[in-house]
Order: sequence, then C-alpha cells, then structure tokens
Amino acid sequence: MNEYITFTIPKQKTIALIAHDGKKQELIEWCDLNKNILNKHFLCGTGTTARLIAEKTGLPVKAYNSGPLGGDQQIGAKIVEGTINFIIFFSDPLAAQPHDPDVKALLRIAQVYDIPIANNKATADFMINSLLMDKEYEHAVINFNKNIQDRVENKKQFIK
Ligand code: PGA
Repeated sequence: MNEYITFTIPKQKTIALIAHDGKKQELIEWCDLNKNILNKHFLCGTGTTARLIAEKTGLPVKAYNSGPLGGDQQIGAKIVEGTINFIIFFSDPLAAQPHDPDVKALLRIAQVYDIPIANNKATADFMINSLLMDKEYEHAVINFNKNIQDRVENKKQFIK
C-alpha cells in the first residue's frame, strides 16, 4: 500500500467561509467583491458568518453551527471526509477567542489534508485569482488506511 494517495480538488470547489467578529465586515466586503468567482463554487461557513454573507451579498451559503458552538469542528470534519476543499478564514489576531483550540484544530487538519486555507485578505486575494481556481487540482495526501494498518501492526507486539 502506498504512503500517499492522490486526492482531487474539483474544478467546482466547496469553499468554507469563516470570520471572527472583528473581521466579519472585511470578509463580507471581500465576498461581495469576488461574487462572480465565488458563485461558480459551493459555499458554506460557520453560522453567523454564513448568514451575514448570504444576507449582504445574496450568495447562497450553507450555514454550519456558530464557531464557538462547534462550527469550526464541523468544517474540520468535512475536510477529513473530503467534502470541503478550500477555506477562507479571516481570523482576528488581536482578539482572544473562547474556541481557540477549535481554531487551531481546523488549521492543523487543513494542513494534514493539504487544503488551501487563507488566513488574511492578501492570501485570499492571491488564492481566488489563481489559475487553479478554474481547474481540477490533484495532490498527494497521507494514505490513512496504510497509516492505520502500519500502526496496528506496530502496536500488536505490545498487546497480549
Ligand atoms: P461565527 O463563527 O461565524 O458563527 O461567528 C466564526 C468563528 O468565530 O469561528
């Protein structure tokens, strides 16, 4: 079994939109400005962010729970399941968040699954204007079946 398997980020991406309170205005404006690109993809987001973007821009945005109530974790789980493959996350570096562990977990799982994730407007601008937005993108992700099999084999020797 191979160490890595090829995953595909399809042409029509599923983009998660998240903004902390201090950054919501900035993300709404960014979505409005990039409406013509965003409406070619499937959009979702944490509860408050998703609702506000949908109301202010008219874009359809599926809403998960609010971030502090598990929304970031739901999005992380969808990355693991392979159904969310692009993230725009305007986090606020100047405000403490009650759900900081969830935020870290989301960043980590996006890194594990090699998912593009923008943490600020400049990165989001570069990402959304990339030629790859209009293409299918293949990337190598750790083969978790192989990883589990190796770990099981490895642990067997310590288990009676
Ligand atoms: P919200 O959550 O969109 O429900 O405000 C965002 C967050 O704080 O992670």
